[in-house]
Amino acid sequence: MRIFSFVFALLFSGLLSAQYFSGETEENLRAHVAFLASDELEGRLTGTQGEQLALEYIQQAFEGIGLEPAGTNNFIQAFDFTWKIKPEEDVYLRWELDGNPIDAKAWPVSGSGDGEISAELLFMGFGINAPDAGYNDYEMIQDLGNRIVLIQLGEPEVSNPHADFSAWTALERARYAQRAGAAAVVFLPGPDNERLDKEINPRVSALPIPVWYAEEYPKEAKIAHLRTALHAETRTGHNVAGFINNGAAYTLILGAHYDHLGYGEVGSLHRGEPAIHNGADDNASGTALLIELARYLRKEGPKELNYLCIAFSGEELGLLGAKAFTAADLLPKYQSTAMFNMDMVGRLEEDGALIVNGAGTSPRWETLLDSLRPKHLKIKTTASGVGPSDHTAFYLEDMPVLHFFTGTHSDYHRPEDDADKLNYPGMVQVGDYMLRLVKSLPTKAPLAFSKTKAPEQTRSRFKVTLGVVPDYAWEGKGMKISGVSEGKPAAAAGLQKDDVIIGIGEHAVADIYGYMAALGKFNPGDETTVKVMRGEEEMEFPLSF
Ligand SMILES: [Zn+2]
Repeated sequence: MRIFSFVFALLFSGLLSAQYFSGETEENLRAHVAFLASDELEGRLTGTQGEQLALEYIQQAFEGIGLEPAGTNNFIQAFDFTWKIKPEEDVYLRWELDGNPIDAKAWPVSGSGDGEISAELLFMGFGINAPDAGYNDYEMIQDLGNRIVLIQLGEPEVSNPHADFSAWTALERARYAQRAGAAAVVFLPGPDNERLDKEINPRVSALPIPVWYAEEYPKEAKIAHLRTALHAETRTGHNVAGFINNGAAYTLILGAHYDHLGYGEVGSLHRGEPAIHNGADDNASGTALLIELARYLRKEGPKELNYLCIAFSGEELGLLGAKAFTAADLLPKYQSTAMFNMDMVGRLEEDGALIVNGAGTSPRWETLLDSLRPKHLKIKTTASGVGPSDHTAFYLEDMPVLHFFTGTHSDYHRPEDDADKLNYPGMVQVGDYMLRLVKSLPTKAPLAFSKTKAPEQTRSRFKVTLGVVPDYAWEGKGMKISGVSEGKPAAAAGLQKDDVIIGIGEHAVADIYGYMAALGKFNPGDETTVKVMRGEEEMEFPLSF
């Protein structure tokens, strides 16, 4: 028996050994991640010293491997972006009461433009005109005549149960009012105390009029005075690009973002004191694999293609680096055939699947992905070329794309995403599989492109949360939990990682969409039960939202 299992173990490890990568690859990957995800780099926030240290490391690696510079300045492509938008000191909103201006407890919000105005006030209800729902606040007044328009947040109660006001975001209501002639918009709290916070999103383009939020509004006020002046703080991000020129007709683009969340200034799910977000999986893993793929391709890759390797910055702030790269005059130099994006490739689970997004962006992908799949690697594909990572920018240039992803986890966008939690042999397997794909790409003509449908708009209008991280790679019945957040209803009820939710209250949960549909039925304070499979056992837990 012992000998038998020894032989079996040998066979098994034989199956897992890499076809193309050498034994050194795993050690190299560990070294790259150890540096990129170290505290010294302070979370690699775009435009900071941590980003600078990371880009120097990547540039040195590219140079050492023998890549040609492919940035706008040597290996680097710098791009400016708006980091923060803040009101200047002398902005104000004042209600006029009995001839006296009273300072309002108010602030300008995302989408606001500048301007100085004194004008009559006009209350416009929810500021919604939705004929499908049979609801229109503009029925009586079509021209807002340069007045300061007051709009309530939240949604009206209507008899039509299918009425959907989700498209009427605050920004959309402000835009509608502006087109109808408003000189400024001031939002007021909604019936369920809906509010707008002071954070101004720099990715939202400004309307030509001021847009404010006020905590309260004295009904006797007929006139208001406001002055808005917003200051944009600009920072600079840096992509690192290197080229392997084989004199071939077509170029394959390989990319991974190397920026992360710094101390959690943006996009963090961490609550509490600021802490370094090391971003080992997100996305030191992809960056490390990019370097090792470049090393292999430079030395031993098929010479019938050229390879453009790009480490992007600004991804976490909204794909800024990838957008800057495709917007610059850099791309037309290459006859590109496809783009491979690696974002979070460090957490391949033993029985888990490698997720490949973008499989619908070429009619060839599904067949290639399936026929080249090594036996021990499960692959799960999604079609859309649009997703929350850099490949989207290339798909929008009509390029076939693939995004390689080992799935989300409870450390995602938290300080706990650390180097010691990565599956390095798994990264070797992912890279090796990518090399199989590279070697099977057509070289005499570009890969055929196909457009994909936009992914299902998941309506994020939940009033409650369970506090679990879904396992997107789960293919069985129900919704598998890959992580449980502390202090949330699921944790309080006793749900655990790897539980599979099969029902919430009277609603059966067949898959993740069923889960979201069920969740949408509950309100804060509701009591219900959650049915899960824990291993083979079906269990039921009382839960309160
Ligand atoms: Zn991220």
